[in-house]
Amino acid sequence: MSNHDNLVVDNSFIKKTSVYSNTFFLMCHLGYLLFFLLTKSYILVFVNCGSIMVYSLLYIIIKKKMYDLYASIAGTEITAFMVTGTILTGFQTGFHLCLIGLCILAFYSGYFSMKTDKKIKPLYWGIAFLTIYVALYFICLFVEPYYELSLTVKSIFYLIHTFIVFTIVIIFLYVFIKYVNKLENKIMNESRTDKLTQIPNRMALLEYIDLLGDEKDHYILSIFDIDDFKVINDRYGHICGDYILKEMAKLVTSSNGIDFVARFGGEEFIIIARLNKEFPEVVNDIDNIRKSIDEYNFEFNNIKIHSTVTIGVSKYEYGISVNDWIEMADKKLYDGKKSGKNKTVA
Ligand code: GH3
Ligand code: MG
Ligand code: MG
Repeated sequence: MSNHDNLVVDNSFIKKTSVYSNTFFLMCHLGYLLFFLLTKSYILVFVNCGSIMVYSLLYIIIKKKMYDLYASIAGTEITAFMVTGTILTGFQTGFHLCLIGLCILAFYSGYFSMKTDKKIKPLYWGIAFLTIYVALYFICLFVEPYYELSLTVKSIFYLIHTFIVFTIVIIFLYVFIKYVNKLENKIMNESRTDKLTQIPNRMALLEYIDLLGDEKDHYILSIFDIDDFKVINDRYGHICGDYILKEMAKLVTSSNGIDFVARFGGEEFIIIARLNKEFPEVVNDIDNIRKSIDEYNFEFNNIKIHSTVTIGVSKYEYGISVNDWIEMADKKLYDGKKSGKNKTVA
């Protein structure tokens, strides 16, 4: 299975949809049974009993999680039933309308199919349904229906089929759009969250800054880089390095006076803070974060580890680009690194 499949396929969702749709189809056929008995269409009563059996057995296929097989059998049953219904009762009863609903079902099940190569199948199904629809039209044009139903019965059938098709189209499209929206949100969030630290990543940061618009003048940007992180990795291992990064993210996120924190790169983070006091005071708040990291004892496998950071702070200057703003803070950070580390330079 590809990553895409993992992302899209939510088994409980597919199971629920399959159970509901199967129950809906079963109910429709129970209704048909009553109608066929009342109109004495005994061949259709017989065919319909076959359909009821198929849908009863399909619960087993759903239970076995064979959703692709379920969709294929249900699709075939509906097609066969609609063709039989149209040939026996004529075009005016509207059995053929259900082929339109089937197109929606085919694309729906194709989208949720577990197998990537099956995603093209809805197109073939759709073309098949269109062909059958047109063929039925011509058959009914030249062949008299087996059952001569009254206009009232035909109209009732037509309305029932219209109702069934609209129900399928509306419900399936509604559920599909809801599912896709949820999926979009999930993907949006994941693409903006750093996997390791679970805080916003570079993309989220750039979007955040962009959203600040003209308000940027009221903010400062601080970039901090862990001091001698290579040494930590070399001495205690990468897993420990990862742990320090996660802890560091938690520490900074819970600090006061900041508006946004993101992991900018490897062991570099960016903090955005609003200038709601004088610049030196806000810088002081940022330096307090550095101090709290300096005082913090990271503990990994019962080993106490001391880690520090160097911070570069820059104020937004009118007209500069976001890259320039980050670059300015980075220069200060570089100054801090050159002049002994574990300090805040503004
Ligand atoms: P400096 O004080 O000059 O910043 O020294 P440094 O050792 O921190 O040097 P530098 O910033 O160049 O090194 C960054 C190191 O961070 C190198 C890289 O292996 C490590 N690193 C980057 N991302 C990760 C990560 O996700 N996990 C771990 N464990 N290490 C990482
Ligand atoms: Mg670095
Ligand atoms: Mg570093």
